[in-house]
Amino acid sequence: MKKALYIIAAITISLSACKVAEEPDIILRYEENLSLEYDEVIDAYRQLADYYPEARLVEMGKTDIGKPLHLFMISGDHDFNPASLREKGKCIILINNGIHPGEPEGIDASIQFSWDILRDIDGMHELLDRVVIGIIPVYNIGGALDRSKYYRTNQDGPVYVGRRRNARNLDLNRDFAKQETKNARSFVRTFHFLNPDVFLDTHTTNGSDHQFTITLIATLYSKLDTAMGKFFKEEMLPGLYSRMEENSDYGMIPYVQMKNYYGDIKNGIMAYNDAPYYSTGYTSMYNCYSFMTENLVYKHFPDRVRSVIDFLKQLSYYTYDNSDTIRKLKDIADEEVKEQDIYHLDWKIDMSYSEKLLFRGYEHVRPENSSGRRWNRGYYDHDKPWTDSIPYYTKYDPSLTVEKPWAYIIPQAWSDIVEKLRHNEVVVYRLEKDSELTVENYYIENAEPAQRATQGHHVNQNTDVRKVKQKMQYYEGDFVIITNQQSNRYIVEMLEPHAPNSYFAWNYFDPILEAHDFYSIWGFESHLMEMLEENQELREELETAMADDEELANDPLARLRFLYQRAPMYEIEKYNKLYPAGRLMSHPGNLKLCSDQEPVFTID
Ligand SMILES: [Zn+2]
Repeated sequence: MKKALYIIAAITISLSACKVAEEPDIILRYEENLSLEYDEVIDAYRQLADYYPEARLVEMGKTDIGKPLHLFMISGDHDFNPASLREKGKCIILINNGIHPGEPEGIDASIQFSWDILRDIDGMHELLDRVVIGIIPVYNIGGALDRSKYYRTNQDGPVYVGRRRNARNLDLNRDFAKQETKNARSFVRTFHFLNPDVFLDTHTTNGSDHQFTITLIATLYSKLDTAMGKFFKEEMLPGLYSRMEENSDYGMIPYVQMKNYYGDIKNGIMAYNDAPYYSTGYTSMYNCYSFMTENLVYKHFPDRVRSVIDFLKQLSYYTYDNSDTIRKLKDIADEEVKEQDIYHLDWKIDMSYSEKLLFRGYEHVRPENSSGRRWNRGYYDHDKPWTDSIPYYTKYDPSLTVEKPWAYIIPQAWSDIVEKLRHNEVVVYRLEKDSELTVENYYIENAEPAQRATQGHHVNQNTDVRKVKQKMQYYEGDFVIITNQQSNRYIVEMLEPHAPNSYFAWNYFDPILEAHDFYSIWGFESHLMEMLEENQELREELETAMADDEELANDPLARLRFLYQRAPMYEIEKYNKLYPAGRLMSHPGNLKLCSDQEPVFTID
C-alpha cells in the first residue's frame, strides 16, 4: 500500500502544475447502442487526466491478460493521497466497472459522469468539495478484449460486448475471498489504498421482467457494524431509493430475488446475501457501504447507461449531503472492529419479517401447460403493467457465530496462505524461537467436497469441526496473526474452517483431509493381542464394551479400532485431520515475536 501511495504522490508532484494538453475530445456512443472498446476507454480517461488538474490516471498492478489495472481519481483540491484526504474529512467513493464485460453500462456511464463533474455540468463540480471519486475503468480487461455480437444474446444491446470470464476463465465476481487472479490482487491493492467509504460495482441482470431499468443489491445491513448498519437501513438506502424516484426517469428497486423461484413477484422478493466472494461481500468486511447496480437486460442499452449515470449522481450527492455522518461512522467502526470479539460467519433469512415495497411490474402470464413438462416458463405481458405493494424480506440472522481468538498461529509450511492474508492488509508476526503453546485446535469432523467444480474448486461444504484444547509444538518463524486489526473480519472469515468462504472451503487445506499415518492390519493384530494379554485392565474394558455394543461384539475390525484407540501409538492420531491454524485464546506472556519489516518486540 505504501508503495502505491508513493507512486501517486510522485505523480501528483510532477504533474500537478503542468496540465497543457488539449481539451478532451471524447466520443461516447451509448446513445447509438455501442459501448466503448477497452483502448477507447483508457484513452478517454487519459485525456481527462491530461487536461484537468483534478484528475489522475494511475496503474495499480497487473491483470491476468498482462495489461495493468487502472485507477482514475477525481479530487477537488488536487490531493491524491487518501490518508490526507481522510484527514480533511473527504468521503471516498470507489466505482468498479466491467467485472463482467458483457454488462458494460458502468464503463460508459462512469466516463460521462467523470467528464460532467470535471466540466461542471449542472454545478456538479461542487461534489468535489466533500467527495473524492475513484473509478476502475475496466476490471476484467481480458474479458473486455474478447468481444462478440453473440455474448449475452438475450440482452437489448449494446451491439458488441465482452465475455463474462477473465483471461484464465475465472468469474472475477467469485474471486474476492480467495483472490487467485492478478485482477483480484490488483483490486485489493487499489481498495486498501483508497480505503473508500462507499463502493459500487456495476452489473446487468436477467431473470424476471418488470418496469424498472435499474435494480440495486446493497450489502446486508446486518453484516455491517451496528451503527453503520442502522444508518444504512434507516437512512441511506431509503434516501437513495427516494432520490432516484424523484430525480431520475427510471426510479430504482432492490434486485429482484423472488421468494419463489418459479413464482410470482407479487409473492415477494428477498434481499441478497452477498457472500465474501462477491465484490460487495468483500468490501463491506472493511466497513464500506457496498452496492451492486444490476440493470435489467430487457431494457435498451442507452436507457440502462442513463440510469447508471443517474445513480452515480444520486449516490455521490447522497454522500456529499451526509459526508460527516458517513465519515464519522466509518472511523468509529474501523476502530471498533479491532476490539470486536464475536463474528458471524453465516446467515439465514428470517421469512417471518418483511417490509412493504412499492413495485411496478408486468402481469406474469402462464399459459395452460398441455405438454406435461414440469416447467412452464410463461411470459410477462407488457400490455398489463401493475403497481402494487409487495413483501420485501430483508432480515438475515446469524446462523454460525464464533468468538475470535487472541491470535491465530499458523505453521510456516502454510506460507502461501499467510501471503494471501498479508495482501489484505493483515499484519503478520513470526515466532522468534521454538515454542510449545497451548492452543484451541479444530479437527475436521466432516467436510463434503462439492461434486461440481466452481472456479476450478470442489468447494468443501457442510464442514463440521471439533474443538480441542492442547499443547502444540511450534517453531521459530511460524506465523502469528493477532486479531486486533482493521482486517479482523477478513482474518476470521478466512481462517475459521467452517465459514462457508474460508480458505479451507476453497480447498487450500485439503492435504490435511488425507490419511496421516495409520496401522496396517497385517502384523498389527498380533501386536495388539500381546497388548491385551499383558494388560488385564484393557481386557476387561474391551469385554465390558463388547457386552454393551453389538457392532464391537460382531465386527473384528471394530475391535481392532477399539484397541488401536487405546494403544500408545494412537498419539499419532493427534495430527489426523488437524486444522493447521491454531487459536491462541490469550497472549501467553513473554511471547517473543518479530516481523519481516519491523524489529523484534515483546508482548508482556
Ligand atoms: Zn454481473
